[in-house]
Amino acid sequence: MIYQRSNASAAVRPAIAKLVPKPASARDFVLPDLAPDDDTLHQIRLDIGDCRRCRLCEARKSIVFGSGNERSSLVFVGEGPGADEDEQGLPFVGRAGQLLTQMIDNTATKEGIPIRRADVYICNVVKCRPPENRTPLPEEMEICGQFLFRQLMAIKPKAICALGATAMKALLNTKEGITKSRGKWHKWRDIPVMITYHPSYLLRQYNQQAKREAWEDLKTLLHFVYD
Ligand code: URA
Repeated sequence: MIYQRSNASAAVRPAIAKLVPKPASARDFVLPDLAPDDDTLHQIRLDIGDCRRCRLCEARKSIVFGSGNERSSLVFVGEGPGADEDEQGLPFVGRAGQLLTQMIDNTATKEGIPIRRADVYICNVVKCRPPENRTPLPEEMEICGQFLFRQLMAIKPKAICALGATAMKALLNTKEGITKSRGKWHKWRDIPVMITYHPSYLLRQYNQQAKREAWEDLKTLLHFVYD
């Protein structure tokens, strides 16, 4: 059980409490009521509130919670918002997001699968933009990861797609490299997880082979979920 109820004292959350820099009040030590059977995305967003649980709150403009079909059979998980996402409050709306849209829409069309990006749900491991787009720190991932896990539990998709190493680490807690893990099925709790490259990585021009592989991964994923 990863969740604890909000009436638990700070003393039962020492690991998290230590990670919270100068909280404004004792409330910041306390995690919200977690993972009731009837948890909803709406409730999770309310529990995040105007989050000050880690330092990423200091420079953010928006908390980027997630977007898409909340009843989707497929959830994509990225790393964290970039500048465009922070500005608009939505995940994957910048260049990497446009590539992700193309990948989903074009693969679905080619494979005769009647879905579009709007039919899946998309979110990130951390909900606030890391400064200079740096990789989120382990404690940021741990604190924010509880909300990602609740999102996944509330949606209960047929499969999850982890985009890149940060999402892979958050879900599978593995040290294995992305090149080795991609294109294969793993599990988060009982839910199958496909690992593939992050679209930002695919935007780099020399990664033609990686692009081909990511397209293959997506094909496998879409057929598994929608056939
Ligand atoms: N990269 C991510 O990991 N997530 C976004 O939302 C945008 C870019």
